[in-house]
Amino acid sequence: MKILVQKFGGTSVSSEEKREKAVSKVIEAVKNGYNVVVVVSAMGRNGDPYATDTLINMAKSIYSDIPKRELDLIMNCGEIISSVLFAATLSNKGYKAKALTGGQAGIITDDNFGNAEVINVDPSRILEVLREGIIPVVAGFQGITQKGELTTLGRGGSDTTAALLGVALKAEAVEIYTDVDGIMTADPRIVSTAHIIDKISYNEVFQFAEQGAKVVHPRAVEIAMRGNIPLIIKNTMSDSGGTIITNYSDAYDSIYEVDKLVTGIANMNNRVQITIESTENVQDIFEKIGEEKISIDLISIFPDKQVFTISEADFEKLRRLFEKYGVKYSYRTNCAKVSIIGNRIRGVPGVMARVIKALSKRNIEIYQTADSHNTISCLVSQDKVEEAIRVLHDEFSL
Ligand code: ADP
Ligand code: ASP
Ligand code: MG
Repeated sequence: MKILVQKFGGTSVSSEEKREKAVSKVIEAVKNGYNVVVVVSAMGRNGDPYATDTLINMAKSIYSDIPKRELDLIMNCGEIISSVLFAATLSNKGYKAKALTGGQAGIITDDNFGNAEVINVDPSRILEVLREGIIPVVAGFQGITQKGELTTLGRGGSDTTAALLGVALKAEAVEIYTDVDGIMTADPRIVSTAHIIDKISYNEVFQFAEQGAKVVHPRAVEIAMRGNIPLIIKNTMSDSGGTIITNYSDAYDSIYEVDKLVTGIANMNNRVQITIESTENVQDIFEKIGEEKISIDLISIFPDKQVFTISEADFEKLRRLFEKYGVKYSYRTNCAKVSIIGNRIRGVPGVMARVIKALSKRNIEIYQTADSHNTISCLVSQDKVEEAIRVLHDEFSL
């Protein structure tokens, strides 16, 4: 069976007019002979009636400390509403369609509410629906535990649903429809001259996503890579070819791209830099931070102190933890991380020097740096991050 998974993000289904556009992409694929499996996100962004953030805020306005289970339950509603409306729109156009929850679509997870791990994907129900000539419209971002609890897969997790189903169904490709033309050299909302990358390796796009470019979820990239299924990022509102994400050798078949040192720039906002000043029982403290599921980044260990960053959202939790264990620390709020990404940074001398020089010339102070094979990251002040991105975009002629 020739299967194509098409996922539509929140902005692609935020109004009737946009949903019509999205539905037309499905119909086009059906006409091209595909058995389409649709995955949808909740409609719109914060403030829109059934958007995920709106639902969260609604629940939090009553609950002072909402249990994670309840939060997942209310978040599940957003995608379910969206899937029913999408299926209804397809039906109105004469295409049989059926909305399915994540659980009904066979996505079984553990009970780590808010960021559940998928333990099994059973595609049999979807295949059954497809065999009946019906288009399944799956609520993204959600799963069910073996005990029947509803879970979510982490913010932005509808991409993950699409990749999981693509692999389980052995689809020809997974198309991720969003509100930009594809993966760009930087967030187009920040850099007006950012341009689209036609082809990119899984590895680099994973770095992009990990470093904060939320255009696609890193887990989705990882799943597609392991299943060796092409991921294609496209714009619901245009007919542009989008970005094809595939393996390295397929992605770099042109000399131009091989020559390019840096592929793009990503940023992660709302970071807090933490410095632990006590040295006793440091391993224990890091263990406790892990147990609290606080994710840390830009970790620098010195003999007399440890420096790292966390998300602002985890700061209160960390403060409580440090108070409990009497940890001496200082912190710097309002930070953001800017990262350059490129598979070819590895082994090329002087790249870090260029980054530092370009930022210093504009008086952008660097609080911390880190590098890996294919990234160089700098922590800067939140109010300088957009300028930093533009400066680096220019510096590397993107
Ligand atoms: P969706 O609701 O479709 O899942 P997201 O908001 O999650 O959409 O992702 C799309 C957004 O990602 C774009 O609107 C864009 O602002 C942002 N973005 C950040 N970095 C990039 C990049 N390098 N290329 C394209 N978009 C990016
Ligand atoms: N609606 C969910 C979110 O806002 C999942 C997604 O959009 O992918 O995080
Ligand atoms: Mg998204």
